[in-house]
Amino acid sequence: MDGKLAVIGLGSIGSMALWQASRLTDSVVGFEAHSPAHGRSAAGGDTRLFRMIYRGNPAYYPLLERSRELWAELEAETGQDILTRCGGLSIGTSDGPYIRSLLETTRLTGGTHQILSREEMASRYPQHNLRADDIAVYDPKAGALRTDRAITAAVTAAEANGATVNTNTPIDSITESDDGVVITSGANSWTFERVIVASGAWSKQLMPEYLKAHTETRRIFLSWFVARDAEQFSPEKFPIFIRISGDRSMYGAPAVDGVTVKATLDGRGAPTPAADSVPRDLTPAEITETTETVSEFFPGLVPSIVRSDAFPDLFTSDSQPLMGFFSESSRIYSATGFSGAGFKMAAGYGEIAATEALGKRLFEGFDFLRPQRFQES
Ligand SMILES: Cc1cc2nc3c(=O)[nH]c(=O)nc-3n(C[C@H](O)[C@H](O)[C@H](O)COP(=O)(O)OP(=O)(O)OC[C@H]3O[C@@H](n4cnc5c(N)ncnc54)[C@H](O)[C@@H]3O)c2cc1C
Repeated sequence: MDGKLAVIGLGSIGSMALWQASRLTDSVVGFEAHSPAHGRSAAGGDTRLFRMIYRGNPAYYPLLERSRELWAELEAETGQDILTRCGGLSIGTSDGPYIRSLLETTRLTGGTHQILSREEMASRYPQHNLRADDIAVYDPKAGALRTDRAITAAVTAAEANGATVNTNTPIDSITESDDGVVITSGANSWTFERVIVASGAWSKQLMPEYLKAHTETRRIFLSWFVARDAEQFSPEKFPIFIRISGDRSMYGAPAVDGVTVKATLDGRGAPTPAADSVPRDLTPAEITETTETVSEFFPGLVPSIVRSDAFPDLFTSDSQPLMGFFSESSRIYSATGFSGAGFKMAAGYGEIAATEALGKRLFEGFDFLRPQRFQES
């Protein structure tokens, strides 16, 4: 045996699983094909939105709360500034489906929020040019996660706790037997009691057939703009935002670098054949829609894309992650398939994956995340 637990992929979720596992055992080893937080992973592009007011399954709320605690713990443990606590705005047509479902989920979760009328928005956040029937919901606990800092901090903290890290070590195969799991990289092989697969958009090659049929790699692009007055778009004055107003939608983050504001079209994840060769350039149609939307939503931004990029993420057919052992008798644990929404809860997912993979305990209430939901169908 080379150890109790191996974590394959030290990206957004794998780095957190390694950190959490290092709190539970002195026998965890991480394997990363490149380097943690490398620029072509799903964590690329500086920031990810963290928010507790959302639409969707209320079961995520405790995981968001736990993640928020863990982000603060990671900051305290490493001295890194990881979550920029700037608040968040969800903006949309007052009687439209977006705001309706957001408030319905919030009624069930009890998340702290404040509804802002168009007039209140104009005085508090004049950066946003609202339509006549738009309102906003303010989320005081939202913020922008600094992805590269978060991942490198988690790996550093794990190493300080005694974890071993192998970078530039792509795992080619996983084979399990009654005695353990053998993983290989080129001519090298190792045997572990349990393995976590957290290789993001590259996970398919390490998955059983029944899961391959329910997953696909998608490309998500990002774009950035320069503010006419940078101070107006600083984290102190400009919360993260998601806006769905009629036919247009956009989300983004303040100028965490003091210069560029992330403002990007929402919900545009599109299938792409390979995680290693995601087309990075925006298409003419993407450029046109992005600049038109910024022109309408933000008079204070120069409507010219100064930076753009695109990254891969693994989506499942029901857009919920794959968290759990491949089968009831398996020693291989899946922590992948985060479907364009995983970073905000990466710390919480890491804790669940590490705790469950090490056999410490099972977390209740997450049947909808278990891989077996696809095995049964
Ligand atoms: C552009 C974009 C914007 C997004 N915005 C948000 C947002 O605002 N808020 C939010 O919560 N979520 C957001 N998401 C989703 C979130 O970022 C992803 O769900 C999350 O980062 C996925 O993490 P992961 O660990 O599965 O993958 P990754 O972070 O990509 O990590 C996988 C790692 O595994 C490594 N690896 C791959 N194969 C192997 C192998 N065989 N052996 C060893 N290592 C391997 C890779 O090199 C990589 O480092 C966004 C995603 C994208 C792409």
